[in-house]
Amino acid sequence: MESLRELYKVGNGPSSSHTMGPARAAKVFMNRYKEAASFEAILYGSLAATGEGHLTDYIIIKTMEPKPVKITWKPEDFRPFHPNAMKFIAYDENEKELGSWTVYSIGGGSIIEEGQARDEVPTIYPHSSMNEVLEVCRKNNWTLSDYVYQYEPDIKEYLGEILKIMRETLMNGLVAEGTLPGKLNYPRRAKNFYEQAKANKGELSILIYSYALAVSEQNACGDVVVTAPTCGASGVIPGVLFALQEEEGYTDEQLIDALAVAGLVGNLIKTNASISGAEVGCQGEVGSACSMAAAAVAFLKGASNLHCEYAAEIGLEHHLGMTCDPVYGYVQVPCIERNAVAAKRAYDAAKYAMLTDGYHTITLDQVMQTMKETGLDLMAKYRETAQGGLAKHFAEC
Ligand code: SF4
Repeated sequence: MESLRELYKVGNGPSSSHTMGPARAAKVFMNRYKEAASFEAILYGSLAATGEGHLTDYIIIKTMEPKPVKITWKPEDFRPFHPNAMKFIAYDENEKELGSWTVYSIGGGSIIEEGQARDEVPTIYPHSSMNEVLEVCRKNNWTLSDYVYQYEPDIKEYLGEILKIMRETLMNGLVAEGTLPGKLNYPRRAKNFYEQAKANKGELSILIYSYALAVSEQNACGDVVVTAPTCGASGVIPGVLFALQEEEGYTDEQLIDALAVAGLVGNLIKTNASISGAEVGCQGEVGSACSMAAAAVAFLKGASNLHCEYAAEIGLEHHLGMTCDPVYGYVQVPCIERNAVAAKRAYDAAKYAMLTDGYHTITLDQVMQTMKETGLDLMAKYRETAQGGLAKHFAEC
């Protein structure tokens, strides 16, 4: 598995696969063809279908400024390697092609070149299943955070920065008012929910909702967020962790360890299944975030490794089959509410797991495989194309 730096990334929302990945690719291509007079970016499949609502064209043009970029949309053209494909072409001043590059935005802001196998990405963790991780921890008497620090000893400082940025985004979201950008005129709710949380001290669920909403609303308006594991699902982990810190007094140090545990779960899902809504639907985004957050909550509450794994399993299992159908392609409906509900669900998953003796029938490894297969079986209209589900019915209304 890769470094947690590849999972928790900092960038502008609203979509890690539709804004962070393309921005990263545009920067790489621009540096390869510094002499180019202009560029073209051809967006395929899901990147084209929801690119406008997800601000893909805006971010590519902004990244390649001041050079002009022509954006070509090909939503009906799905490339077999991954539904989020893009091709960059560089031109000289006579519009002669200098070179091109096909690249895929595979979720969480990561990009892969055409032909590059996923397992060629540098790995630093030697294990790739939760069962292996649990066994290594058992033999060495490690917690799950010990496991992360053992193989990535310098990650703590980075996670501290990640926690800081998550908190900044949350604070910005709690004071913001008005509606979110786009034709839905979607009203912000975080500030109002937070006021209700303060008026109902001890109602943890309202606090969790308000914090998750604050981050998700900032994401929807293109603010800086942390992919956890994606921009679309960025409200879940900070929502539940900061609410628990406020209610139960955990230190930042404890939250950083919890982020390491959540990151381990996210890394396993990314390695064995997918965190890309375009590939497997929202079960890979909000489902994965809920699974990560559930493990983190269980860890914070002092659960055993097995109970943390069980919490993560519950968090993912009960999002199986969840489609991605954003209305008008904006990361707003159903995304924002979904983050708030999943943050609370992560808390419930941890609580449920900890009420048991740890024995459970389905393992996290099994549910990850199930999620991947279910995602591949989903019709394209339910995988970030805004052509089915809520997106279709809202448009018809
Ligand atoms: S429905 Fe889920 S996967 Fe789709 S854009 Fe919204 S948050 Fe992302």
